[in-house]
Amino acid sequence: MDNAATTKVKEEVLNEMLPYFTEKYGNPSSIYRLGRESRNAVEEARKKIAKGLNADPKEIFFTSGGSEADNWAIKMAAEKLESKGKHIITTEIEHHAVLHTCQYLEKKGYEVTYLPVDEYGMINLEDLKSALRDDTILVTIMFANNEIGTIQPIKEIGEIVKNSNALFHTDAVQAIGAVDIDVRDMNIDMLSASAHKIHGPKGIGFLYAKKGIRPIPLIHGGAQERSKRAGTENVPYIVGYGKAFEIATNNIKAHNEKLIELRNYLMEELEKNIEDIKLNGHRTERLPGNVNYSFLYIEGESLLLSLDLAGVAASSGSACTSGSLDPSHVLLAIGLPHEIAHGSLRLSLSEFNTKEEIDYVVKNLKDIVARLREWSPLYQDKKERA
Ligand SMILES: *Cc1c(COP(=O)(O)O)cnc(C)c1O
Repeated sequence: MDNAATTKVKEEVLNEMLPYFTEKYGNPSSIYRLGRESRNAVEEARKKIAKGLNADPKEIFFTSGGSEADNWAIKMAAEKLESKGKHIITTEIEHHAVLHTCQYLEKKGYEVTYLPVDEYGMINLEDLKSALRDDTILVTIMFANNEIGTIQPIKEIGEIVKNSNALFHTDAVQAIGAVDIDVRDMNIDMLSASAHKIHGPKGIGFLYAKKGIRPIPLIHGGAQERSKRAGTENVPYIVGYGKAFEIATNNIKAHNEKLIELRNYLMEELEKNIEDIKLNGHRTERLPGNVNYSFLYIEGESLLLSLDLAGVAASSGSACTSGSLDPSHVLLAIGLPHEIAHGSLRLSLSEFNTKEEIDYVVKNLKDIVARLREWSPLYQDKKERA
């Protein structure tokens, strides 16, 4: 139940990858047949990805994942456009790959505006319009949020940024395969994506950079990735990503219908069986597999530990697991008080989840929540007051 963190590699994806570890192990830069086969495989994958976005294959640059693509897009735009200005606009709910890159640039003398979001995690387009200035060089706004699943109005944002001096970058890691993305129609200048969130392998992603941007090289060396990111291509992973991307973008509607049905069932069962829970994120503009609730009067960490004992993998609304006690910046940004943010749980589904699994999770959660609340002084207070 933690598919927003990562997903299982699909059988078909793995099968396409395997020959490129062994018999088809050529270096794409070699001119003999073994090398040419690898080159063709890499370019086929690039074409599949470009097609799924309505981009040109020349606009796709493979990276080691979403974080690298986010870092590259933002630092490169800052460096390229420095002479035009040093103002960047982003949001309060970005992934850390974007937020920490922006904070790094602030230390280097750039000014960053962090747009707030409403209680559902949506930015206000008027806020964006009034934040844009002549010296704004980059707007980076995530397509869909990884914690609460809220999907931003990216086409409208693209329309607004198009009429400014700034480039528009979006972290679309969670949106690929869930939303139809057309980079031309949506006026997206740069887009980051990652394979392991869509049943591809970990450690491969890409940056889409619109023709004309001419990215500043991230890694200097050989001529790979149009001399923008040197180093021998990770051929099997690129092949796997091409396959995973094709599957994910070919069947969006059917895939979403199935996931939404499963997700709605999970939400209904939770709301029916457990009192004092609050949905985080948007009811409709939401990733099909994302469920995020605050369980009042309890700690998300205790929930996670008990769920783990029951064999359920989930994620909480605090970053404790990553060594910090701060509640998630996303949950604080939608206005949750610390104690409620701390009691949050994200369950993120994939097509491999079943109704039986959901029944199992709800049954266990119901017992766990009842037990934790028995021990919760806040809950006992509330009961006495009632
Ligand atoms: C997972 C994720 C990333 C990071 O991608 P990696 O490939 O793991 O580096 C970036 N942004 C969002 C929204 C994500 O969900």
